[in-house]
Amino acid sequence: MGAVIVRAALALVNAQECEDFCFAIEGERIAAISPFETLRERFPDAAVRMHGAGVAIVPGFINGHSHAYQILLRGTGDDLPFARWRTEALYKIVPGLSPEDVRRTFASAFREMLSSGVTTVAEFFYLNGRGNAHAEAAIQAARETGIRLVFARCWMDAPAAPADFRETVETAAERTGELMTRFPDAHVCVAPHSVHGASPEMIRAAGEFAREAGCRLHIHVAEASYEVEQTVAQHGMTPLRLLESLDVVNERLVAVHAIYMEEAEKKMLAGASAAVIHNPVTNQYLGDGICDVAGLLELGVPVGLGTDANINASILDEMRAAAFLQKLAHHDAGAFDAVRAFRLGTSLGAQALGIDAGDFRASSYADYAVIDLERLNPPASPLINALIYRARSDGVRETYVGGKLRAASGSSS
Ligand SMILES: [Zn+2]
Repeated sequence: MGAVIVRAALALVNAQECEDFCFAIEGERIAAISPFETLRERFPDAAVRMHGAGVAIVPGFINGHSHAYQILLRGTGDDLPFARWRTEALYKIVPGLSPEDVRRTFASAFREMLSSGVTTVAEFFYLNGRGNAHAEAAIQAARETGIRLVFARCWMDAPAAPADFRETVETAAERTGELMTRFPDAHVCVAPHSVHGASPEMIRAAGEFAREAGCRLHIHVAEASYEVEQTVAQHGMTPLRLLESLDVVNERLVAVHAIYMEEAEKKMLAGASAAVIHNPVTNQYLGDGICDVAGLLELGVPVGLGTDANINASILDEMRAAAFLQKLAHHDAGAFDAVRAFRLGTSLGAQALGIDAGDFRASSYADYAVIDLERLNPPASPLINALIYRARSDGVRETYVGGKLRAASGSSS
């Protein structure tokens, strides 16, 4: 594809409204941001793509934590307490999936995400007990649909987990390494499940693997109160302190949930330059609790958002839920605003995952969504507030990943 000049009547750039915003795309990335005439001179042969009156472009949304196959639990898993949800829905449905089931399910979930403006998804993937065929099917689904994938490859060895999820440390390391070599576009990283899903030995080994590979380490941590009680009873320390003792609290750590944490533990995350992914819709759906997003941001921790159980695979919904939960937790409508919610779903999410996206910047990926202003009522009041508090996924008219159209008018291409 030759260079393309994008000219938008309205854009959200660094969370600010910007009129007649223009940039050039070369390959998958933004080559330059300049006034239209300057770009015309510099890229005389470029095609011009206009996003005119009635729409605004925004950075593509970053989904920092998803289990795509949980769309199969919709209906079956609703309204069950967590322990029953896990055994009667998750463990009943997911282990039996074939690689072809995974490919179809993931493609369906990824299309849903793309049509709601999501351009990057971090998939936390469990089905590794029988080899890499399932993982390859998930990566194939990302390639088919065009979504940018961060493949957080789970490591799990807890005896209570289904055999289809379990591996030894050696096997998990070998298979993860193989995926990294074969699929450089999948941003493969390592993801020991949690302090209850992976043994301390496995978590420590995953930390060493991440250090050698130079990749992130995603892990579920401090999601529910029972997890804290159980970890203190078994190991004499809280989940985060256990992770610290296993040498994984560092700049590679992506702590998923981070709900039940003492102040000192939040500071530990900040001091280590670790990141957090918050999943506010799933946390409400499963009755988990509320992450102190406002407090973590104040300490400088990058917090992104995830659709986790994929109740509805939309980061627009997650941004809204994140803002509402902070207002509710602090009993203060001023405790969290639309701009911060927007950053969670875009620039901070990208920072947490280590992906060069989440805003319009020279050299970052040309990943963006086109919002139909006519579906917002009123359309600009200001735009970022309309987007966070009123926009719905069907108000996303088009989604571009690496400059390529991947979804249009609610159905992906
Ligand atoms: Zn999860």
